[in-house]
Amino acid sequence: ASLPDDTQIQAAVDKAYQDYRSLSDGANADYIPALAEVDPALFGIALITTDGKLYSAGDLNTQVSIQSISKVFTMAKVVEESGRLSIYDNMGVDATGQVFNSINAIEQHQGAEMNPLVNPGAIAATSMVKGKDAADIWHSILSYYSDFAGRQLTVLDDVYQSEAATNQRNQALAMLMYAYGHINGDPLQATDIYTRQCSVGVTAKDLAMMAATLANAGKNPVTGQPLVQSENVPEILAVMATAGLYDDSGKWLYKTGLPAKSGVGGGLIAVSPGKFGIAVISPPLDAAGNSVRAQKAITDISNALGGNPYEVS
Ligand code: GLU
Repeated sequence: ASLPDDTQIQAAVDKAYQDYRSLSDGANADYIPALAEVDPALFGIALITTDGKLYSAGDLNTQVSIQSISKVFTMAKVVEESGRLSIYDNMGVDATGQVFNSINAIEQHQGAEMNPLVNPGAIAATSMVKGKDAADIWHSILSYYSDFAGRQLTVLDDVYQSEAATNQRNQALAMLMYAYGHINGDPLQATDIYTRQCSVGVTAKDLAMMAATLANAGKNPVTGQPLVQSENVPEILAVMATAGLYDDSGKWLYKTGLPAKSGVGGGLIAVSPGKFGIAVISPPLDAAGNSVRAQKAITDISNALGGNPYEVS
């Protein structure tokens, strides 16, 4: 089935905004000090269809740090540069059943059976990005993310400084992954580039464009730029479906059927293949680390529009 008409899409977005704008459950992440400072009232919803139309409500201009949502796009870059089995062969594509920065998850299978959307796998993925030195690798990652968003993105320096000063646990994860042979090059350099990628500033509209590019078989629906070969998109969506919402990935998939990825900055993207990408920013998180309002808003909107890819009518 195709999407409902323009007014129905906008009505679904508006309804979710009204239904949840005064919901104040959850709390900002605070293990990265700068994230605790972000306004918890910030709430923006953006949906972009595969033909490039934007439907939105709330704040579309305020940037938050992309955090773990970046992991999807670094995975895409590695798959594009090094082949569709590169990620699969290095750190795997299975849910860990552990928290996103688990040392046990590494130890259990010596870093071999996890996925690129949890920190150890994500840092390993960042280490696989090609480039002649750290600056070149970083530039390549930032420009790839920018192409997805359709505008030049930049780092939120306060978030980067705050996380760089407090990311000893990620450094430890990277060292362990290095010891087990999953990191290419210097593990602390990979951790630093990973920390920068997590600090990139994005609006709800940027995130929706990034999601819509995946929904549109890897081509940005507005600029038309091809960013992922269409045959590489399903694997990326599969890992999002498996591990996109931390420990609640199963519950999320059960309710929506949508490949998605959350970040501790309060962003959440979801992809309805062939139909739309959607993103919501709202910083307060639940106990699993996912934005409370973003989960509710995306679930309602997608279900109202027939976004669940498992639903055949
Ligand atoms: N930069 C964060 C970290 O490494 C990302 C966490 C997340 O969004 O899940 O802890």
